[in-house]
Amino acid sequence: MKFKTIDDLKDANNLRTLVRVDINVPMDGDRVTDLTRIERIKPTVMELSRRGAKVILLAHFGRPKGHVVPGMSLKPVVPALSTVFQHPVAFAADCCGEIAINAIASMQCGDILLLENTRFHPCEEKNNPPFGKELAELGDVFVNDAFSAAHRAHASTVGIAQHLPSYAGRTMQAELEALQKGLGNPKHPVVAIVGGAKISTKLDLLGNLASRVDQLVIGGGMANTFLAAQGFAVGNSLCEHDLADTARAILAKAAQSDCAIVLPSDVVVAEDFTANSPHKTVPVEDVPAGMMILDAGAQTVATISDFITHARTLVWNGPLGAFEIEPFDRATVAAARVAAERTRSGELVSVAGGGDTVAALNHAGVADEFTYVSTAGGAFLEWMEGKALPGVTALN
Ligand code: AMP
Repeated sequence: MKFKTIDDLKDANNLRTLVRVDINVPMDGDRVTDLTRIERIKPTVMELSRRGAKVILLAHFGRPKGHVVPGMSLKPVVPALSTVFQHPVAFAADCCGEIAINAIASMQCGDILLLENTRFHPCEEKNNPPFGKELAELGDVFVNDAFSAAHRAHASTVGIAQHLPSYAGRTMQAELEALQKGLGNPKHPVVAIVGGAKISTKLDLLGNLASRVDQLVIGGGMANTFLAAQGFAVGNSLCEHDLADTARAILAKAAQSDCAIVLPSDVVVAEDFTANSPHKTVPVEDVPAGMMILDAGAQTVATISDFITHARTLVWNGPLGAFEIEPFDRATVAAARVAAERTRSGELVSVAGGGDTVAALNHAGVADEFTYVSTAGGAFLEWMEGKALPGVTALN
């Protein structure tokens, strides 16, 4: 995976620098309720500004589907940007045409300008070539700092890069370097933990990992489908019985690739999906008919911990149980803490992300201790699936 970074942009002074960012932030009315995404782009934006570039931010917000939807304007995000950047941020009410051209023409070196939601134009999501060219004409260079939008081939992520020298911003660079360590060129043994609700959403991911990692730990609701496919009764558990053949095919693929599949040997079963529902730990062959599996048992956790302890690399997506409700968070929390400890002592590279994984690691109190926790959702999952991300490919 080769890409240029803003270190390769030798002289940024006075350059009209189009920076694709992800500021699809949660809002309560006109107030941004979580600044994480803005804090993540700050290093790139402020470095470019300090180096004298005219920093022009391009971003999408929500799903206006090619229409101007006033409730999805990026204008209310401007005060939060200024506060986090500690720098004034101007706003242009369109991302192209006269409005954008005039706003950019009045910029001085170091200024920061946010353009309106790119998805107000139907050509954005269609990656319409003339639209990509029109956006590119607004700048001299392109910097993509939105890894989370890199799985989508849109005009502001891919089209634009075809016309301008293109570079990865600092956040994109950190994400790509971490991912490279995780699966690109990892130190072995490599353990993958895949959990979460269903296998139907993670078939490609499981298939890819089965041929690339040394041990694949399958947990959470999706383990039930594998257990059922192996002939175990799973009671009232969440289970995709119709995917039994698919589960068996994944097991066969793993066997061919010398990838050990680790399924629960004991499980915590409960009467229903509520906190502190009456529960007990049983061997996997003894799941009572009226109960549901909500977590992995202590013996399984010990096995998983042992694999993590001997691994050099861990990639993780999805919780090992219903971590939002007590006490069914125990397996996830215990495994996360072992991984954090090994990472702290420098023996493990740990990369996690996608879906509820960030929430689960936050719940365990260890998200900051992993080598890298990706907040990128869909892009992270596509990377785990082994797919080329168009927004990254476009930087080549
Ligand atoms: P995902 O978004 O696919 O990563 O799935 C995360 C969700 O899976 C969380 O809301 C968990 O509560 C849920 N989950 C994990 N294990 C189980 C289980 N054994 N039964 C039901 N839901 C589960």
